[in-house]
Amino acid sequence: MKVLVINCGSSSLKYQVLDMTNEVLMCKGLVERIGMDGSVITHEKIGQDKFKLETPMKDHKDAIGIVLDAIQDPDHGVVKDMSEIGAVGHRVVHAGEKFAYSVLITDEVIKALEECIDLAPLHNPPNLLGIAACQDLMPNTPMVGVFDTAFHQTMPPESYIYAIPYEYYEKHGIRRYGFHGTSHKYVAERASDILNVNLDDLKIITCHLGNGASVSAIKRGKCIDTSMGFTPLEGLVMGTRSGDIDPAIVTYIREKENLEQGEANEILNKKSGVLGISGVSSDFRDLEAAAEEGNERAQLALKVFAHKVRFYIGAYIAEMNGVDAIVFTAGVGENDIGMRDIICNDLGNLGIKLDLVKNKVRGKETIISRDDSRVKILLIPTNEELMIARDTFNIVKEL
Ligand code: ADP
Repeated sequence: MKVLVINCGSSSLKYQVLDMTNEVLMCKGLVERIGMDGSVITHEKIGQDKFKLETPMKDHKDAIGIVLDAIQDPDHGVVKDMSEIGAVGHRVVHAGEKFAYSVLITDEVIKALEECIDLAPLHNPPNLLGIAACQDLMPNTPMVGVFDTAFHQTMPPESYIYAIPYEYYEKHGIRRYGFHGTSHKYVAERASDILNVNLDDLKIITCHLGNGASVSAIKRGKCIDTSMGFTPLEGLVMGTRSGDIDPAIVTYIREKENLEQGEANEILNKKSGVLGISGVSSDFRDLEAAAEEGNERAQLALKVFAHKVRFYIGAYIAEMNGVDAIVFTAGVGENDIGMRDIICNDLGNLGIKLDLVKNKVRGKETIISRDDSRVKILLIPTNEELMIARDTFNIVKEL
């Protein structure tokens, strides 16, 4: 069965087609500037050059229509007609407490996801638009929802309850949800395969370090804690997000800087993190270049970032009473040799020893700990699309 994976943002859309008989990626692409001037699709049939087409797309339905044309195109396409696509897997950011697993999309599921819009006002609406557009254009193709929050639903209450009046949890659903769940799950499963140890026998700490970043504690294959919270703002220091801060800072800054409603939120989401500390960039490549040239705030930003990752690794070792494997993934985790080195430095007493030679690698599945390291350190490129396609295939093949 061939599965189309759709990841719909407010003005952009990523897609892939995978052949699930052998889990092979057939084509992938990106649509940008949906509903704006200069809408454009960049499509790549694997093994061929990318092609770009600028064409008007007034909404998500137009955009999905263009994607379907691209995947059926006689030159760049991968199917003769849409009957070859057995299912569509949709990435959906927030499923609240409603779904702990991926599900077949029905009217009830859509209603449940609409009820989560308040929790993810920027993400769930475009995700739902993508689902509606696909349903319009492919009314007979089964669709599956795969949720960023689902994997974290196994957390115990002591991990997800905030120490604020309990009625806010009951009335407004304010609790830790966690994000990047599909990625944490994927790399944990890969780690188990690579180490040839059953997930049930492993305690894993997965570090998804990209522009957005989060750490998860995974015991016997189940997430027991994760650093992102009610929103993706909590936890680690990120590209532009503050991560954990004293909540009193918010009201204090609002007063001191005379901020309007919403401005504090904007500052913490878009102007903080390593960008805020350094004043240089949110991109770790720029930061490292600046740090090398002696920029002290760039050096500080990198140290604060690493400090927070180490802080969570320590916390999760305590929560799980040990750790067998630490996994690095996403843009920074997969590519930033220096950052992995700083994070793992001087943890020998915890049985964590990075091999500085094996660590000199980017974007490749490999073990980077020393042979005498009790805790295995792994580099595993994430593949959320494959995970979405797998869940979609597994649900649809049972229909
Ligand atoms: P997201 O999906 O959250 O937008 P990614 O996982 O793609 O983010 O990570 C993007 C980040 O990865 C970039 O901002 C950059 O800082 C970092 N990155 C990518 N390549 C490298 C590299 N070679 N060295 C250091 N950092 C890198």
